Amino acid sequence: MTVKKKVTILGSTGSIGENTVDLLKAKLDKFEIVALSAGSNVELLIEQVKILKPKFVAIADESKSDTLREALATIDKNIEISVGEGAMIWAASHKVDITISAIVGFAGLRPTMQAIENSKAIALANKECLVCAGHFMMDKIAKFGVDLLPVDSEHNAIFQVFDDQNSNNIKRLILTASGGPFLRKTREELKDITPKEAVVHPNWSMGAKISVDSATMMNKSLEIIETHYIFNMPSSKIDVLMHPQSVVHSMVEYIDGSILAQMGAFDMRTPIAYALAWPSRMKTTGSRLDISQAFALEFIPPDLDRFPMLRLVREVMDTGGAMPIVFNTANEIAVSEFLSENISFLDIENTIFDITEYASSKQYMVTSIEDIFEIDREIRIISLEKIKKHATNIGYA
Ligand code: NAD
Ligand code: MG
Repeated sequence: MTVKKKVTILGSTGSIGENTVDLLKAKLDKFEIVALSAGSNVELLIEQVKILKPKFVAIADESKSDTLREALATIDKNIEISVGEGAMIWAASHKVDITISAIVGFAGLRPTMQAIENSKAIALANKECLVCAGHFMMDKIAKFGVDLLPVDSEHNAIFQVFDDQNSNNIKRLILTASGGPFLRKTREELKDITPKEAVVHPNWSMGAKISVDSATMMNKSLEIIETHYIFNMPSSKIDVLMHPQSVVHSMVEYIDGSILAQMGAFDMRTPIAYALAWPSRMKTTGSRLDISQAFALEFIPPDLDRFPMLRLVREVMDTGGAMPIVFNTANEIAVSEFLSENISFLDIENTIFDITEYASSKQYMVTSIEDIFEIDREIRIISLEKIKKHATNIGYA
């Protein structure tokens, strides 16, 4: 009898979470689900519990407590439940072989840090935690001897073709970017983009926040920082190429001129399956790239005037310190305000420019993980204040 791999999913009801559940439900002979956790979608969480039969179930939204407890009592009285603040950390506190870190945004940082102590491998989808606390996370990952398995499709692609033993033979890493839904729109045309238009990605089906991030190219900007930490490469060796077909998920260029790429259909189940099965592979029923038909691939250097976040991220990385946290948090607030229709699409960038400029005159110290939480807290307040002030008078588009 094979020993089952123990799995916990942080953020099981999200887009990555659902794709993970979809893979696991077909492989219950190989995986044992230890914990499932979600923000507030209690109905979907209950459905997932019925299928995956975890031992521990957590939900952050306290108002969903009764619904969850009542439903789970009818499924299995032995399931342990945690609700509210701390529930995600509790979910990450049980010993497992692999944790899927798929909570969106900064909220994923504490649970992921907790999971590093209890999980042999972290399958990382949540890029924001690495952007904000990359040094601390990578140190902790090394200290606990944890395998970091990137789930983000670009990083997963690089991971698959990255010669870890000879990284000095690597000239550069090339992240591909689909360009999002507005690749061919001018900046003038971006002014009136609505949240509904922004969350529809041409190739991938994803959560609302990352869809907006793809449209502003903030997603690729965050991914440059994510690449820097995962592969220990300087900003100068990480390039971006627009690739509207999303077939080549990223590339590694070696010093002899060889470029190794990973290709596949745009289906997140492929990188998730890779992480779940690593160091082996598993058969999936996900989409397949049909290479029997003629197809063309385009690679276009990004226009930094069209996508200014791709330029700003280089300054953010050069400055270092608190700046990546500020960059990320200002974006989280701006995206949330955009999705609530309080600011325009272009105001997302305006907010990030404003807040990073404001923070550049501050002397933030980042000497501990608690400093990061403090800076995030402060930048959340300041970003909201600035948005309220500007959105009601002139400045913002
Ligand atoms: P999503 O919005 O679809 O799902 C987010 C999950 O996190 C949900 O389960 C939600 O309940 C939970 N959550 C949200 N806020 C929470 C909170 N405060 N406390 C606890 N749980 C909370 O997001 P997604 O698209 O699945 O993305 C998840 C992460 O993976 C993001 O960091 C994203 O950048 C990254 N990622 C996603 C994709 C994709 O295809 N969706 C691809 C690459 C990387
Ligand atoms: Mg990606």
